[in-house]
Formats: sequence, structure tokens, C-alpha cells
Amino acid sequence: MPYHFSFDLSRMPQAFYESLVKMAYQKNMHRRIATTVRRLAEWLKIQEIGGLNIVDFSTLIEDLVDIHLHNIVDRERFQRSKRRALFLPHCARKYMDGRCRAHFDADVPSYYCNRCSPDCLINMATALGRDRGYEVYILPGGTCLPRILEKNPYGGVVGVACSQEIKQVEEYLKSKNLPAQAVYLIKNGCANTKFNLGSLAEIL
Ligand code: SF4
Ligand code: SF4
Repeated sequence: MPYHFSFDLSRMPQAFYESLVKMAYQKNMHRRIATTVRRLAEWLKIQEIGGLNIVDFSTLIEDLVDIHLHNIVDRERFQRSKRRALFLPHCARKYMDGRCRAHFDADVPSYYCNRCSPDCLINMATALGRDRGYEVYILPGGTCLPRILEKNPYGGVVGVACSQEIKQVEEYLKSKNLPAQAVYLIKNGCANTKFNLGSLAEIL
């Protein structure tokens, strides 16, 4: 389920929003971050950040802090896990039309990248995941996850998605007691989305 708003954090320095998320977590203030960000924006006379108004931006930062927190909580168990899967979002493919040569297998269900474009994020992330020993899936939506996990007893999973989708899937993974790590999109919109490959490499 996408947000009601679009954002593109790729237009701002990665260090800025990452520091904001880490600072909010370290100061244990993620429940108050919305107020803090709003006050700071008023003080600096900022109307929007990353293409978002301040209210939506603070909602987004709250969600990113929650994801960061879950990653920390699950990290140790995840690192001890043996068989792992990486779930990538289809919306980060370079092409969303017939130019994408990925094959979709409805029985899995997953796309499988056919490497038509070396600069496609999904192509690069698939190669990275496989190099690190992950079984890689490219999902059309989070609802595909239960079907895959029911057939495959993974010990740990890594998911890339927008923060809204990650938060919804987290509940399901928690009910399965499956340690998970997440990488959030820095540009949403359900097409031509972006995530940080360096952050994914770090998590893997
Ligand atoms: S590199 Fe793979 S995922 Fe990307 S557009 Fe080509 S076939 Fe699709
Ligand atoms: S932005 Fe991507 S991950 Fe988020 S809901 Fe849309 S398609 Fe799914």
C-alpha cells in the first residue's frame, strides 16, 4: 500500500536523512520526531523537504526511524540465520514496460531479471544478493511474500520496499517469528523508484 504522497530523498544528501533517523533513534525521540521536525522547519522557515511538506516529511522520518529500530532489534538473530532470501520491489526496475526483459513466474510469484540494462538497480541488487548467497525474488507487491515463505523455510529475510509497505509486512514477519532486515526506498511512487545500493550491501 503506497503513501498518499510522493517523495524523493535521492535529491538530498544521504548523510542528511540518515543522520536525522539515527539521531532520532539514539535520543529515543522517534515518538516526538514529528513535533521536533515541524518546530525546526518553522524556525528555519522551511516549507518543504525532499519534495514533501513538513507534515508528510516528519511522518516519513518517523517511519524510517521505526524501520531502523526493527533492523537493530532483529540484527543478531538475522546474522545467526542460515538460509536467507532477498525480496526486491518490481517498481525499482529501470523499465516498467515491455523494455524490461524480466520473466514473471506466477507460480512463485516473482519476476526474474534477464539483465537487459547494466545500470538497472534491480539487476545490480540481484547480482549483489546472489553473490552473497541469497535467493532473490522481485515482487510485484508485499502480498506475494506469504506464498513464497510458506513454500520455503528461510531462516532470515531482507526486504527492499517503500517504508509504508515495509511496515505492513513487518507485522506478518513478526507473526512468523522470522528475523528480517529492511532497506527503504529513497524515492517512492510505484514506478522508477530508488533505493541505496550501498545501504543494501551493508545490510546483506
Ligand atoms: S535489468 Fe532486469 S529488471 Fe532491469 S529492466 Fe532489464 S530485465 Fe528488467
Ligand atoms: S512504491 Fe514500490 S514498494 Fe511501495 S507500494 Fe509502490 S510498488 Fe510497492
